[in-house]
Amino acid sequence: MSQSILNTLEKPVERRHFLFRSTQTILSATLLGSVASYGADASGTIASHDALVSTGPADKISLSPLDAKTEQEKGPLPNPDPMEQRIGYAIVGLGHLALEEVLPAFGACKKSKVVALVSGDKDKALTVAKQYGVSEKSIYDYQNFDSIKNNKEVDVVYIILPNSMHAEFTIRSAKAGKHVLCEKPMANTVSECEQMIKACEEANRKLMIAYRIQYEGNNTEIKRYVRDEKYGKIKNIVAVNGQNIGDPKQWRLNKKLAGGGSLADVGIYCLNTIRFITGEEPTEVYAQIFTDTSDPRFKEVEDTINFQLTFANGMRAMCSSSYSQHQSRNYRIYAERAYLGLDPAFPYHGIQMYRSYADGNMEIYEMPKGASENQFALEMDHMSDCIRNNKKPYTPGEEGLQDMSIIEAIYLSAQQNKPVQLKKYDGKDLFRGTLPEK
Ligand code: NAD
Repeated sequence: MSQSILNTLEKPVERRHFLFRSTQTILSATLLGSVASYGADASGTIASHDALVSTGPADKISLSPLDAKTEQEKGPLPNPDPMEQRIGYAIVGLGHLALEEVLPAFGACKKSKVVALVSGDKDKALTVAKQYGVSEKSIYDYQNFDSIKNNKEVDVVYIILPNSMHAEFTIRSAKAGKHVLCEKPMANTVSECEQMIKACEEANRKLMIAYRIQYEGNNTEIKRYVRDEKYGKIKNIVAVNGQNIGDPKQWRLNKKLAGGGSLADVGIYCLNTIRFITGEEPTEVYAQIFTDTSDPRFKEVEDTINFQLTFANGMRAMCSSSYSQHQSRNYRIYAERAYLGLDPAFPYHGIQMYRSYADGNMEIYEMPKGASENQFALEMDHMSDCIRNNKKPYTPGEEGLQDMSIIEAIYLSAQQNKPVQLKKYDGKDLFRGTLPEK
């Protein structure tokens, strides 16, 4: 805290000084932010603790902008909900995604908090519980998981386990009366997806699939260009998602646990993102698999798979996923008046837009810089918003089921070496729920 703010805090401060008004000066707003975050009443200089607590929407804080209107918009302050009002999450599976991305993302959440952990490794769970302030009594293992139904703090179970375990834990969570946020791919088969949807419907619980890209700003901006036909009609899309996978013993290379290879794990981003930005459903798929089975990594699942999607409006997409090439995650949209896309398109950070279009005798190539928000915080807060306001998540179970139906058709096409026709649908965004709040 700066010395000038410390000096100011030494004087008694009354509640009315803390209630924000948009006409207040930067100084008073800065003071409010500082006091709220430092909880500075220990010295007795603040009238009462209540004076520091924001109790509802009326107490939202804002600050006067520092920059001129010529600069990039920053948007409002986060104004997170008070902790006691947030939706509580149990994290199931403490592996890479949970520890590297999801748990840290709670720090950026406004409506969500972590309240329970589920792990097969008690020592790891105890360590993580200390790191994130989770009570020891809210640690579960895979056997005693069902007793989570007695934990009133838990509203949502977020399943971050190997793919083959998604269905079992979704169904057990629904039976325990909890809403479910489940990682992609939703499950290993269409039949499992259907069982998961049914279980959540019967328990009157919400089911959302964690398609973080559908909540991400740059991808959402591309969706807007496509839907508004800013550059004319879309003729073709090329999407790639690949990485060079390591340890041959990991579950991702085990067919029973993973369901499939690069398609189920990373190729699904190409498929789901194209469905998201266009709102359209493919009517035909045609695929080929390229796997060196002498490579110890690929004894059970496919390495590279190329698949073509055909759409009723004449648009086509060429997609490729791989487990044996240097990481590359991008897409390019070929429209009538421009080509544009994201490179990279699918990582957790650093997504970059590009576009190229003609202007007179110039070809303009641009790399606009979009906002960079935490995708996991955005998706969890959307789930929390849906629970609080009884809305269907934007990426519900039906969205995951539709991907799985297409994935099964892609594998069938590769196996038969011929195109496979898909069910035809009229309309856009047929499997999505309520749009996320801005
Ligand atoms: P991981 O292997 O790092 O973690 C899996 C966790 O499950 C570990 O804690 C492991 O101990 C536990 N587990 C329980 N039973 C297991 C078993 N029988 N075999 C192996 N592990 C078992 O995996 P991850 O990368 O965290 O992926 C977990 C899920 O998250 C997968 O469904 C994956 O597709 C998904 N994922 C999504 C994203 C995304 O960006 N949305 C990124 C990575 C992973």
